[in-house]
Amino acid sequence: MITIKEYVAPESLEEAYEILMSGKTNLILGGFGFIKMGSRAVNKAIDLCNLSLDYITETEDEILIGAETSLRALEINDIIRNYCGGVISQGVSNIVGVQFRNMAKVGASVFSRYGFSDLLPSLLVLDAKVRLYKGGLMNLDDFLERDFEKDILVEVILPKKKGMAVYDCIRKSTGDFPIINGAIFKGENGQYRIAIGSRPQRAKLAIKAAKALENGDDIEAVVEIIPEELHFGTNIRGSKEYREDMSKALLSRMYGKVGV
Ligand SMILES: Cc1cc2nc3c(=O)[nH]c(=O)nc-3n(C[C@H](O)[C@H](O)[C@H](O)COP(=O)(O)OP(=O)(O)OC[C@H]3O[C@@H](n4cnc5c(N)ncnc54)[C@H](O)[C@@H]3O)c2cc1C
Repeated sequence: MITIKEYVAPESLEEAYEILMSGKTNLILGGFGFIKMGSRAVNKAIDLCNLSLDYITETEDEILIGAETSLRALEINDIIRNYCGGVISQGVSNIVGVQFRNMAKVGASVFSRYGFSDLLPSLLVLDAKVRLYKGGLMNLDDFLERDFEKDILVEVILPKKKGMAVYDCIRKSTGDFPIINGAIFKGENGQYRIAIGSRPQRAKLAIKAAKALENGDDIEAVVEIIPEELHFGTNIRGSKEYREDMSKALLSRMYGKVGV
């Protein structure tokens, strides 16, 4: 059971960060979907609802997504749906159900770096950046390599890339956690980016496999690089060997869809 001693809704990020750091059990609230599954005693639960972080906007070069944006907004927003084949919308549409996606937040989903995330593979192939209140701006792939450190994820930033991207996954049934998932991006200049997630560790870029595609190697040969380049493991959803095999099928399927 979760117990929360005090609910606070600060008026600035500075204040939110100060409260977060002022006690070991203080935490930031997203949509509360994941927190409530656990069992802990929270002193101060910090709601970012007064900080105007629920937005999806664009500039000439970038798309900006605020931390308080819901996963459902990512799924149906026109800017996101029209960006690189709607790959982000495709990915998040697999998460639980519409009611859940209306509540779960982007900031929580990215900051938590879940291995099973249906959002991270797409963000990785699109060269996303994250802005943290204390940690500042950094590439998502660097952020994913870091240890957990208390901070506030403020926004996700997508460069306006020219190209097409595809997300795909293997799961036992709709709404279940993925057994393995991934995304591929093909740029207009022939550049590829491939990310595989739910390994079951968090999503990671397959840089050698992407380079091989850029060099014109055959897809049958390129899929063999994935289990050599990335580490796979076993959990209740699938074994290491199953994931290694399925990573090849997944890449082959995504490659076929992204346009050869
Ligand atoms: C039953 C269930 C099934 C799920 N299945 C899937 C799935 O198949 N695929 C998938 O991709 N995801 C899945 N998820 C995860 C889901 O998509 C969300 O990522 C998750 O619920 C967190 O979002 P939230 O808004 O509920 O966060 P919360 O539960 O409110 O917070 C989660 C964590 O993030 C921290 N946090 C919140 N906001 C911020 C912020 N701005 N900065 C820093 N830290 C922050 C909180 O302190 C907490 O530690 C599932 C979740 C549940 C509960």
